[in-house]
Formats: sequence, C-alpha cells, structure tokens
Amino acid sequence: MAKATTTIKQVLNYQDAHAAWFAANQALFNQVVAFYFEVIQAHERVLDLSDKEALRALEKLTHTTKKNPTPAMPLSALVEDAPAMFRRAAIHAALGSARSFSSHLSRWKKRKAKAQARGKQFTERPPVPPRTWNKSATLYAGQWKERTSSSIVLKVWTGKCWSWIKVRITGRALPADAEMGSPALIRRGKHWWLHTPLEKHFRSPPTIEHQVTANTATTICAVDLNLNEHLAVCTIQTVEGTVLATTFIGGGRRISGFRKQQLGRIARNRRKTGIIAEGEQDNVHLWRKITHVDEQIAHLVSARIVQFAKAHGAKILVFEYLGSLKPARGTYSRRGNSKRAYWMKGRIFTYAKYKAYNEGMLTSRVSPRNTSRECARCHHLVARYEAGQPAEGYTSGAPLVFCQACGMRGHADRNASLVIGQRLITRYQNPSQGKPQAPLRVERGEQSPGVAACQDAKSEEGPSFPQARHADGNEHGTAQDRSLRMDEHLSDIPHPLRFPCES
Ligand SMILES: [Zn+2]
Repeated sequence: MAKATTTIKQVLNYQDAHAAWFAANQALFNQVVAFYFEVIQAHERVLDLSDKEALRALEKLTHTTKKNPTPAMPLSALVEDAPAMFRRAAIHAALGSARSFSSHLSRWKKRKAKAQARGKQFTERPPVPPRTWNKSATLYAGQWKERTSSSIVLKVWTGKCWSWIKVRITGRALPADAEMGSPALIRRGKHWWLHTPLEKHFRSPPTIEHQVTANTATTICAVDLNLNEHLAVCTIQTVEGTVLATTFIGGGRRISGFRKQQLGRIARNRRKTGIIAEGEQDNVHLWRKITHVDEQIAHLVSARIVQFAKAHGAKILVFEYLGSLKPARGTYSRRGNSKRAYWMKGRIFTYAKYKAYNEGMLTSRVSPRNTSRECARCHHLVARYEAGQPAEGYTSGAPLVFCQACGMRGHADRNASLVIGQRLITRYQNPSQGKPQAPLRVERGEQSPGVAACQDAKSEEGPSFPQARHADGNEHGTAQDRSLRMDEHLSDIPHPLRFPCES
C-alpha cells in the first residue's frame, strides 16, 4: 500500500481576544515540550523505545497519579493541570525533536571518530540542542470537538484557565475519502490557522515500465514547461501514440511582467539608497511579494497539470529535465526575472510530482535534448517561426513549427510536449532507441546561436489564444496589487492547431 499525505489549511475566524489565548496556549505548549526535552536528555535510554513505550515511560517519570505519587521529575511543578491530551501532544513533539537531535549528534560523533582515526584535524562544532522553542500546538482528540465544515470547538489555555471556545472555519473543505490526522493551531503572521493533515491509503501504482509495456490502454500526460506565455503545455497520449487531448496553461506573461516590475523597483530603490548593508536583506517587502507570487503560480500550474491528467485518466506524468540555467543578459530586472522563471519551472515539477502521487500517478523525466527541434511525427528537425513569417529556419521561442520532411504544422510547445511523451514510451518499449536519432546530430549545424537561452526573449509574440489576449489587457496599470489568478477555464480548450495525423 502507498500512502499520500496532504495538509488542509483553513483560516480561523475568532474574536480579537482569542488571538491572545491561542498565543498563550502555544507558549504553554512550548514550555511543556521544552520540559519533556529536558526529561529525555536526562533519561536518554527513552530514545531506544518505540514512541508508545517512550510515552508510557515519560508519563511515569513526570505524571503524578495515585499509583505513581512521587514521579522523578513532576510536570505539576511547571503546570498544575495540563489535560492529558495536551501533555501527550507535547511529549510526542519533544520526542521528535530529541530523536532528531540525537541522530545529528551521533552522526557528528561518527564523523569525528573517522577524522581522528585518519589523524585529521576535526573542527566541526557539535550540534546543540534547541535553545528556543517555537512549535505549533497539535490538538489531539479531546482538545477539540464538534467539528463541522464551518466551525470547530477548541480547548485552549487562556493564560489563566482551560477553556472551550468555538471558532469559525473558512477555506477548503475536508475531502471525505481521506483519513484525518490531528489538527494543529498555526500562527501565520498575525493570524491563526488550523492545519489538518490528511492521509490517504491506496494500492501502490505499478512501475512505469510495467504500465508502458504491459498495458496498451495506459495513457500518459506529457508536459512541456516554458518561460513564455504558456507556462505549461500538456498532451495526453496513449502508449501506442494516439494523441487524445491538449491543454495550454497560460499566464506566463502576466507573472513575468509582474516579477520584472518588482525587480525594477528593487533596482531603483537600491540606486537611491546606494550601498546595501552586508548580511541584511533590503527591500524585504518587495522580495516577499515576488516569492509569494512565484510560489502561488507554481502551485496553481502544477495543480492544473495534475487536474488535467486526472480528468483524462492519465497514469504517468512526464517532464523533461531542466537544462542548466542560462540567465538572460541585460538589466538587473531582466536577469533576475529569467533566473526566477527557471526556478519556478523546477518548483512546478516538484509540486506536480507530489500532487500527482496523491492521485496515484507516477512522474518521470526524459532528456531535454532537442525536444523542441524534433518533429513529433517523423523525428526530423523542424522549422520554427513566427506567425506571418515564412516557415523556415529556427527562431527560438517562436510559436509555430513546420516539418519539411512530413509536412506537419503545429504549435511549437505542443510539438515539444508530444516529443517528451514519446521519449518516455520509447525508453521502455525500445530501450535501444531511447536516445535521439542520429540525423539530429548531423543536422545540428543549422542551430542558430543562443538556442538554449531561448524561450523567454523572443517569445513575447505568443499565438493568439483567448488567454493571451486576456493577459494583454492587463499589461499596464498597477500590477502589484492585482491578484494574479490564473485563467479560470481548465483543459479542453479546443485545439487551435491540429496535427494531421491525429484527426
Ligand atoms: Zn515531420
């Protein structure tokens, strides 16, 4: 069986006074965690036990009961009446930290012994136990009740007493098919959230090789990630090569424009202030904005890729490996922008991989070599050109392709995505042909210089899909406060360009 975990994050709506209670509750929780960490340090053998046994041992050492009237290190010296489930959550948090610290320490000792055995000097400092604690309080069953989709009743330490309070919940609803873990009270900035881990168990998917070779009905979703308007182009194909669907995920120009604008501001601010203090982050606010938006877009794009794949019953996601980073030349904002766009591609892959796994899909990557230069139909080199220009040569980043060998015409990124999918299938079905074919190498002379840097510079002219138009309308104005939502319509955009071979 395979297990997938996700966390559902929900905003809490509460009276102003309750924020102070949540803070008091967390402070107490951390005191208790710190206390148990000390207890464990004083009784290190506890770490040899399983979590269950360790819990029992630690309670015996600290918890006063009729049967256990004089524990060695009573918790009551710190807190009089901590609820059992509050105490247990703290014990587990302390155990986790202690186990982690202990394994760091033992690895350090090993390295030290190894260095000394070789007669080498060892200057690495030993790990130190945490000096401050900032853990979020986990609410075990008993610390919360009456949970509905819109409210929950929580038991918290108010600073004076234990009190039940009802708070409203907004945000994603909990899916019904997953197993719910203990929620945690999380502070984000000034606001408090409820994070609930979910576990889903499912039968582990068979290996990619098995799925591709043993079942002709297997469909895969191949993804071409770009730095231009179409952040991702996905195609669904069967392992026999039939193309079933395509989607273009847009929004690239908007995010790029937004990022460039913020970077430009940072550059201007820096010019004004002159020297930047060493080791100090400047323009914190602007950087945070850029990071947030990048993160958000990576999540949106990856979610849509997986949604699209799932909607078409795909079992495998395929990407190409990221080539090495070749930042654009030019102004500070331009260089910074291309670097961040590259990082975002990496993040889209990482997020799509785990989101796909949660849906029982596996993810793979293939060689990026010439994926955008090869014809998906006959594997000869294609011409890549701008709309309205003659179909010849290779203009990197241009939206259209034409294959002189077989007459295929189509959208360049879509062609690349088909090639990516074919590479995965070829890898398993004809292992000897997994690599690009020889003609490619011979004809490489046609390459225009700077191909690899490609894609973000000349791609300003996207094809005229509805989304591209949509983005145009927003190019000007105060971009910074506009929410960067992706285009709503998902998948199944009528294929604007069809390959003759798939109709
Ligand atoms: Zn061709």
